[in-house]
Amino acid sequence: MPRLRPCLDCGTLHLYPSRCPVCQSHYERSRDEFRGAASARGYGYRWRRLTARVLAEHRAVYGNLCPGWMREPHRAKVLTVDHIIPRAAGGSDERSNLQVLCRVCNSTKHTHVDTA
Ligand SMILES: [Zn+2]
Ligand SMILES: [Zn+2]
Repeated sequence: MPRLRPCLDCGTLHLYPSRCPVCQSHYERSRDEFRGAASARGYGYRWRRLTARVLAEHRAVYGNLCPGWMREPHRAKVLTVDHIIPRAAGGSDERSNLQVLCRVCNSTKHTHVDTA
């Protein structure tokens, strides 16, 4: 004998496991919107942790050395992690698609790419 349960959102008694169909569709839409926004931003906690690891590995081998973009390798105070193939062009967050550059080289590169 099926038991009636209250909808999680509106409290209407029904036979569904959690929400009535109306509330369920609202819930799914807002959840999908939230997910879409989070992945569009893309530079959340996971990315910060990834870059911290990449930078730590880089520093362990090279110290604060920037490999240089269109210039010789050089010492740099602030190193950043950059996508070799940009995300917008389908590049992944795999280590093989990430490179370490100083802030100056990073912005030089992006300026270069933008005007190319
Ligand atoms: Zn409901
Ligand atoms: Zn540099």
